[in-house]
Amino acid sequence: MSNQEIKVTLSTSKKEKPKSDQLPFGKYFSDHMFIMDYKPELGWYDPRIVPYGPIELDPAASILHYGQTIFEGMKAYVDKDGGARIFRPEMNVKRLNRSNDRMCIPQVDEDIVLEAVKKIVSIDQDWIPNAPGTALYIRPYVFATEANINVVPSKEYKLMIILSPVGAYFKEGLNPVKIAVEDKYVRAVPGGTGEAKTGGNYAGSFRVQENVAKKGFSQVLWLDGAEHKYIEEVGASNVFFKISGEVVTPALTGSILHGVTRDSVIKLLKHWGVPVTERRISIEELYAASLEGQLEEAFSSGTAAVISPIGQLTWKDKDLVINDNKIGELTQKVYDTLTGIQYGTEEDVFNWVT
Ligand code: PMP
Repeated sequence: MSNQEIKVTLSTSKKEKPKSDQLPFGKYFSDHMFIMDYKPELGWYDPRIVPYGPIELDPAASILHYGQTIFEGMKAYVDKDGGARIFRPEMNVKRLNRSNDRMCIPQVDEDIVLEAVKKIVSIDQDWIPNAPGTALYIRPYVFATEANINVVPSKEYKLMIILSPVGAYFKEGLNPVKIAVEDKYVRAVPGGTGEAKTGGNYAGSFRVQENVAKKGFSQVLWLDGAEHKYIEEVGASNVFFKISGEVVTPALTGSILHGVTRDSVIKLLKHWGVPVTERRISIEELYAASLEGQLEEAFSSGTAAVISPIGQLTWKDKDLVINDNKIGELTQKVYDTLTGIQYGTEEDVFNWVT
């Protein structure tokens, strides 16, 4: 428990809610938002939940110029009895502080952020949609507010949390997707900011994502920034391959985001006794395994889609078709178990749900 009390000002009017079965990702927002401010002499102060609405920002606010900002993403689900369930929020709050550290933003009290997440979700609990595959996406973020365009870290910040009801990521259900292996652009470099969830990493990926979308791919597979050789991530997700019965995922070497879903998948696989290794894996190795018929399954993992099967990887002029473009057995089992824990239909053996 934190010693700072969160003040609550409830909205006097309730917004109309979108239909639960027609939810795009991130387009609608609930009735309230959380705000907390930072000044050097006060630290983080005035945590409050207020009606959702525009905020004021000085035109010189440093976020608008140098992008000193970080964000997080997690989900709340509703179980069959109407109870709200948040999946591993303490992991996201820890990562929020790691991102803060990398972006030179002051650390926040993790307890108060956790408390804020729980409180705003309970206030806007009726915004958790209940159609299959839907959830309430929770977006905490921090940004530099000091009016100062000198190229230095801001002295003032805001931490906010907004909530967005989101639909099933893939409307047609779990479907293998086509991925382009990107061998020109990179997402992150050793020593860079790839391990932090900071805006610029995502802005820098849009050009590439748009390029491959035009060619009919749903995502890019990022190779490492130094040698353009080792597999890092797929879009904004971590990635797993099943090769000859063993599951392999790129090791966290500094430029890969520490995914909460990634960690959960590894723990599940170990719990089931499936061999899983975190190591560097090159695209050449994957291609060779595919030629030998050893590349059995591939999937990406992240909060948004949970698990997304990969049906094809295109690398230069080579197409690696995986499991005949069908969902692998293990991929399906991981998806069913994780979503089962999230929605409360599977036993929460690891105590992941708050
Ligand atoms: N990689 C990147 C770059 C991401 O933005 C995300 C989404 N947060 C992930 C991986 C997956 O992380 P998580 O499982 O925590 O959502």
